[in-house]
Amino acid sequence: MRPHLIFWISALVRIVLILAGAGLCGHFWGAKLGFALAALGMLALVIMQLQYLLSLSDWLENPSSTRLPDGWGAWTEIFSRLYKLRREDEKNQAELAEWLARFRQAMTLLPDGVVIMDDVMFLEWCNPIAEHHLGLDLKRDKGMRVTNLVRTPEFIDYIILGRYDTPLTLTFRERKLIVHIIPFENRRQILVTHDVTESERIDMMRRDFIANASHELRTPLTVINGFLEIASMQTDENVSIMSSHLKLMVEQGQRMQRLVEDMLTLSRLESAEFQVRSETIDMQMMLKHIVQEAQALSAGKHQIALDFSGPNIQGSSDEIRSAISNLVTNAVRYTPEGGSITVAWHAGEKGPKLSVQDTGIGISSEHISRLTERFYRVDKSRSRETQGTGLGLAIVKHVLLRHNAQLVIESTPGVGSKFCVQFPVSRLIES
Ligand code: ADP
Repeated sequence: MRPHLIFWISALVRIVLILAGAGLCGHFWGAKLGFALAALGMLALVIMQLQYLLSLSDWLENPSSTRLPDGWGAWTEIFSRLYKLRREDEKNQAELAEWLARFRQAMTLLPDGVVIMDDVMFLEWCNPIAEHHLGLDLKRDKGMRVTNLVRTPEFIDYIILGRYDTPLTLTFRERKLIVHIIPFENRRQILVTHDVTESERIDMMRRDFIANASHELRTPLTVINGFLEIASMQTDENVSIMSSHLKLMVEQGQRMQRLVEDMLTLSRLESAEFQVRSETIDMQMMLKHIVQEAQALSAGKHQIALDFSGPNIQGSSDEIRSAISNLVTNAVRYTPEGGSITVAWHAGEKGPKLSVQDTGIGISSEHISRLTERFYRVDKSRSRETQGTGLGLAIVKHVLLRHNAQLVIESTPGVGSKFCVQFPVSRLIES
């Protein structure tokens, strides 16, 4: 039965009993006594209810699942329901505490640092790796603003700007960290730190090795190639027997030389210390030269046009020349005889844009996203035939990255390809 119904019935029964008793007394011993007894009975009833209310209020002050006030009638039902609720609450809290303990233990096992902050960046919790990465001490620093604990200008700027979609690379206490901030419920934030010191060191060793190896190979190769070229030009009878072999050796030697040159260029571009130069680039002159070189490479087999109307830009002239030259050379190499190539340079709302369009063999879509990887070729034999090193587009990617430009490739097999480079407005020359 519902508690309020029990309550009503038991209250009515009591009132009726009191009134009936008082009525009987009034009937035998006079109306005055009857009224007095009725009033006393009602008063006793009110005092009893008040007593229950007081016990309930005491219990609510200090709820315990073991000790509950005694009740009668509807109060028994109310107290037993409260008891059940209290037991469930205690069970839920125990489960929550256990879950939280397990969650924190899992967080301590993570290889990355995790910091939980409130909406105003006050430290709520962090795991031991975060303590190690950021020099925090949870017991000491809890409740303090994280920007007061990690006091580096890059970190503070990153927090102030609040552009958390790109991670921050932070050099802190001789470690290189990648820092992500992820907002979550109640405007709290999770900060994740990933230590890349070791992988950067290995990467640096790899880069140094390639740069050194290429450098060491360059001089002996130049000497060998020089002698081979001279020998292959001899008209002497003995030498001419070997001339076909020598020609092959010259070709392979030159290929190795191109490879070494491209490897050196790439390692120079990758080097963090090597900052991009900012000089004014005369785009018209540069593109004219590149188109002339392409015409020499094509030897009249293609129609090569320049469509020029854009502005000059700032950047490294050598790097931009090598990137554009790679794109135009590729267009010549991957376009069969009779095809056409257009190099266009125009101003645009998003900044100046270069495009190199050909009517060549094209590339199927599954290869496009991988073309800028080192040594990735759609067709290995064709790339070698056309004297490719497999590093051209990797060089293009690095140069563009250093100039904050973007490469977009559109291509249809059998129809042709279009390589577009979007430069940012910041590359324009300020007038
Ligand atoms: P490679 O020296 O082999 O040309 P790149 O890095 O310059 O190396 O290019 C990578 C691959 O992309 C090439 O092997 C080729 O398959 C493809 N490619 C590049 N440019 C073009 C183009 N204009 N048309 C068709 N395929 C192209």
